Amino acid sequence: MTQAEQIPVLVSGKLDQVATDRFCDVHNPSQGTVIGRTPLCSAEQTAKVVDVAAAALPAWAETPVVERARIMFRFHALMTEHRDELAAIITREHGKTLGESNAEMQRGIEMVEFASGIPHLIKGETMPNIAAEVDGETNRHPVGVCVGITPYNFPSMVPLWMFPVAIVCGNTFILKPSEKVPLSAMRLGELLTEAGLPPGVFNIVHGDKECVDALLEHPKVAAVSFVGSTAIAKYVYEKGTANGKRVQSAGGAKNHLIIMPDADINLSVKALAASAYGCAGQRCMAGSVAVAVGSVADPLVDELCSYAGSLKVGATDSDSTLDMGPLINTDAVNRIGSYLDIAAGEGATVALDGRQDFAGDGFMVGPSVVDKVQPEMRLAKEEIFGPVLSVIRTDDLEAAIAIGDNCEYGNGASIFTRAGHAAREFKRRFNAGMIGINVGVPAPMAWLPFTGWNHSFFGDLHIQGTESVHFYTRQKMTLTRWFKSAGDSHLDPVWAEKKP
Ligand code: NAD
Repeated sequence: MTQAEQIPVLVSGKLDQVATDRFCDVHNPSQGTVIGRTPLCSAEQTAKVVDVAAAALPAWAETPVVERARIMFRFHALMTEHRDELAAIITREHGKTLGESNAEMQRGIEMVEFASGIPHLIKGETMPNIAAEVDGETNRHPVGVCVGITPYNFPSMVPLWMFPVAIVCGNTFILKPSEKVPLSAMRLGELLTEAGLPPGVFNIVHGDKECVDALLEHPKVAAVSFVGSTAIAKYVYEKGTANGKRVQSAGGAKNHLIIMPDADINLSVKALAASAYGCAGQRCMAGSVAVAVGSVADPLVDELCSYAGSLKVGATDSDSTLDMGPLINTDAVNRIGSYLDIAAGEGATVALDGRQDFAGDGFMVGPSVVDKVQPEMRLAKEEIFGPVLSVIRTDDLEAAIAIGDNCEYGNGASIFTRAGHAAREFKRRFNAGMIGINVGVPAPMAWLPFTGWNHSFFGDLHIQGTESVHFYTRQKMTLTRWFKSAGDSHLDPVWAEKKP
């Protein structure tokens, strides 16, 4: 792509330009340059894409599931072949390190592996002779046109959480990627077409609220998967369900990392830093609050500051040896700065300040550690979504668990300890849906559900794992009775009363 070219949509298997005067700039955050312009589609332009997906539905839903899965096998081969190229696109438009982009591709490829196994998961249940001479069975059917609306922080992985599963389940799909990072999704769409997916089964539309509202209101859309911030997740869930759609909506997070006095400090610090500063803190499973229990606090903060201060931060598009890349845009850089000011104003101690002079125009900020944060401070409660780790000091595990009880969010939480009993208490009682024991980022891979709690998730069936197959299918139950001959009783066999 040449500089600042307009990004196409993908409709009916073809790349197309939409006519609009509304755009969102796509940046290379390492350089601060504009590398593309995402068109913001109108409601009418969006509705046309829905019509295309709806027209492709009947033939695709009738295609045998094993044939649908075989296209994913070919897509998997293409993704593996183009993996380095796909990882480089993520780094270019998002800014995370090449290593992190490769890890993102690995998680995405695993979703395609999972989706390739759906023929086994989509099978129904049978109960022969559920009543006299009556056999019962259930089957799973596609739900219809499905929509995915995704955030900027995983340009490739989060779309891959959705469309491979929806498509193999027999649905057609419309992806509305983040307007800040559309390039990864476009390349995945091209590879899907190359893998042999029929036109109209997978489409990409770009836009903001107008486009999202059009999708949420369109009568031909059956299901919506959303991942993004909590305010928008709640909005999408409420509007989508009010319009009769099935919705799964994953929101923001505030993840706690509990360090017990018996933890190995060295290993814990490395895990904490990877959790808090990986992808420059722009992960919904990023550790955001370290809860230091008892005597561990002083040595932990000392080691954390020295380790985090040694991390190499810079332009990831030209240096693959860096530990951390830039933030997504200047708004994010300013937001991190303002949180550090708020922390100091509320009486916390900024033990490591990531605001430094970086060369170039990239959206850089270094890792920060804020010590002596109190549970009622804004830093302890709000999602910062950047490389800032707050430290709350508590006396015991009970106090650490109580912090979780007062948290609005509930994505992930981890404990670092050598004691089985503390780990067990934490696992059973901490108020979050994904738990790590000596694991800094307890994000499941494709085969298990991404089980956020509280305001980190709105809906019932989660993304990933068997739950996602259930989300993208609806069940049909059939009772069957065959009569031996025309003279047989026509009495309803299930409801006929029989004397014992
Ligand atoms: P965002 O909520 O700003 O945007 C997400 C999507 O919603 C984008 O496609 C965007 O175009 C759309 N959108 C934005 N404003 C809208 C509006 N007013 N009406 C309708 N649609 C709108 O999120 P983001 O900044 O791109 O991503 C970061 C957020 O995503 C963080 O809060 C992070 O925790 C969250 N996230 C959550 C998970 C999870 O699994 N829970 C995973 C990744 C990211």
